[in-house]
Amino acid sequence: MNKLRQAIEEQGVIVSDQILKVDTFLNHTVDPLLMEQIGKDFAEHFKNRGITKVITIESGGIAPALMCAHAMRLPLVFAKKAVPSTMNDPISTTLHSFTKNRDYTLCMERSAVHPDDVLLFVDDFLANGEALKGICRLAGQAGARVEGAAICIEKAWQPGHQAAEELGMDLFVLASIVSMSRENGIVWAKEEAE
Ligand code: 5GP
Repeated sequence: MNKLRQAIEEQGVIVSDQILKVDTFLNHTVDPLLMEQIGKDFAEHFKNRGITKVITIESGGIAPALMCAHAMRLPLVFAKKAVPSTMNDPISTTLHSFTKNRDYTLCMERSAVHPDDVLLFVDDFLANGEALKGICRLAGQAGARVEGAAICIEKAWQPGHQAAEELGMDLFVLASIVSMSRENGIVWAKEEAE
């Protein structure tokens, strides 16, 4: 059992059959040793893919993305959820937040990503694929390409997995959940099963 799945089993809280809470180790309180391991696993999978930058969205993706960038010795760019007044030449796109159930503007400085960049998207969860598609749109505006997606936790019954496949992306997931409920707990995807 990988360490992320172990942490989910020990500390994850199934809020509903759609939402898993992991805020004691991943996206509120953060376990740095677990993040280090996740970063190494992501880096190992994508080591020969010509990646030039790691990209994520504030704030839940930053911890695993930073550790991945550190392991790959590459820069990390995180897209922001509101346009700061300090941004000179922002590019932006609108997307829908799964957990907050509202639209928001995702943006970054145009110069943060170059047309010759090959990007690796890292995030804490893959659900409907909104974040992934939003990052691909931003990358497209900058003329860059998203080569792969490294995801901590995938809820495989939601459309994000298929969206990644349709985008022709190399999708690498550390903990893939087939279904979950408060009554019966988590059912893991085959490759995650012991
Ligand atoms: P997507 O954009 O794929 O629909 O959703 C991914 C984003 O929504 C992630 O960046 C994450 O912040 C949030 N998210 C999706 N599902 C969950 C969940 O079950 N629990 C938590 N804590 N966040 C989630």
